[in-house]
Amino acid sequence: DGLPPFVNESMLDLTIPANRTGFVNAIADVRGKAGGVIPLFIGGKDVTTDDTIASTNPAKPAEVIARVCQGGKPEVDAAIEAAQKAFPAWRDTSPADRAMFLHRAADIARRRMFELSAWQVLEVGKQWDQAFHDVGEGIDFLDYYAHEMLRLGAPRRMGRAPGELNHLFYQPKGIAAVIAPWNFPFAIAIGMAAAAIVTGNPVIFKPSSIASRIGYNLTEIFREAGLPEGVFNYVPGRSSVMGDYLVEHPQVSMICFTGSMEVGLRIQEKAAVVQPGQMQCKRVIAEMGGKNAIIIDDDADLDEAVLQVLNSAFGFQGQKCSACSRVIVLDPIYDRFVERLVKAAQAIKIGPSEDPANYMGPVADASLQKNILEYVKVAEQEGKVLVKRTDIPAEGCYVPLTIVEGIKPHHRIAQEEIFGPVLAVMRAGSFDEALAIANGTRFALTGGVFSRSPENLAKARRDFRVGNLYLNRGSTGAMVERQPFGGFKMSGVGSKTGGPDYLLQFMDPRCVTENT
Ligand code: GLU
Repeated sequence: DGLPPFVNESMLDLTIPANRTGFVNAIADVRGKAGGVIPLFIGGKDVTTDDTIASTNPAKPAEVIARVCQGGKPEVDAAIEAAQKAFPAWRDTSPADRAMFLHRAADIARRRMFELSAWQVLEVGKQWDQAFHDVGEGIDFLDYYAHEMLRLGAPRRMGRAPGELNHLFYQPKGIAAVIAPWNFPFAIAIGMAAAAIVTGNPVIFKPSSIASRIGYNLTEIFREAGLPEGVFNYVPGRSSVMGDYLVEHPQVSMICFTGSMEVGLRIQEKAAVVQPGQMQCKRVIAEMGGKNAIIIDDDADLDEAVLQVLNSAFGFQGQKCSACSRVIVLDPIYDRFVERLVKAAQAIKIGPSEDPANYMGPVADASLQKNILEYVKVAEQEGKVLVKRTDIPAEGCYVPLTIVEGIKPHHRIAQEEIFGPVLAVMRAGSFDEALAIANGTRFALTGGVFSRSPENLAKARRDFRVGNLYLNRGSTGAMVERQPFGGFKMSGVGSKTGGPDYLLQFMDPRCVTENT
């Protein structure tokens, strides 16, 4: 089909000296560029506003990464007008040509991998390897969706009845509002935007204000890829000022969102109300929260389990919707597992993510820090705290890594998404009870099981009802194509990113029948 076969980007190998110096240099380089004013990008042009928000380094709040111009209602209107103007020609551009733009964007991002990663280290406090994987995943989305569009772009002949010819094919829905999170500020943002773009929909992209400089990386990439003007519009702005306005806009056909359950539900509610002048039902794709559990069976390999639970719970400070926030341990192995988990958690190095020796860094901003600290208090009230790491830097958005035991299914710590490094340990008398606890929340995103019992693994396959279940592996780090990602229940509506159903949501199917 003209594109090289899809392969996932590789992981960061820090044993290679060039990778280490690549990172050090990129951080210095990005730091040199930090602090500038970042404009909006509408209809192929930079647009500045007087209102700016300073995006800062969560490890050093005094360090300004960028001053990002904030859009309001007039800028949303202008972006929608530009998108509308661009729509007919972009809709009628062949799927192969649209796919080519994604392929080109992937090449540009690949060339800039260290720099794109460095922005994340400084703007959201992501560790080197995690930032590098985030950028790699973004590239994977670009490449994978390019292939997917080629697969879906050809009209499909339906049935074999004599005397008629039936063709099923897809058309883009219209203008897509892409509302992105800060935790995978490159991967998820560019994944959602790429899916909309390659299927023929112009995009109004609203980054999270915590990661809006990284959001501007998308503008740089799509601009360099030569995307026609108005197809990708970058409109950062305060949610309180323009969030609802964008969602409710009668010309917006779909909203593609990743973030909290509260915001996702609000978007669904707002999008359901038909506005004057609105010509179509809006579609909402919302990837929301998780309260993910890993079950430790009584015969689990503890060397593996301890390491992977720590990684799933505390990697990027637990700020992943896939993070493990409950570990459910079978009675016979409870003491042995918990003792090792606690020892390992006490040994974790905490400090600025800029230094790759640190395993855990600051959370992404002060409001998140405050929220997590509240949950640490709740943990102290509801259970018995086993680990509370107070040996953390005084300056910056740090929170104590916390592990709490004695948590029961009805506790808040067992039910509410915290989005931080707080892990609940729960005890189960049997594997069936462990499964019941695991399934006993309103979320259904990821889960894990460590077991050597084929019978229990089979049971989990059948009865552990989450979107992404990992057997003898941690619960984070889904790979594009290999593990299509996303859940159900209150974890979201819409189908899995990086999977074969994803692009279908951005299009409407048509069938043309000719009587021959
Ligand atoms: N896809 C990511 C993972 O598997 C999580 C995405 C998110 O946190 O929104 O770890």
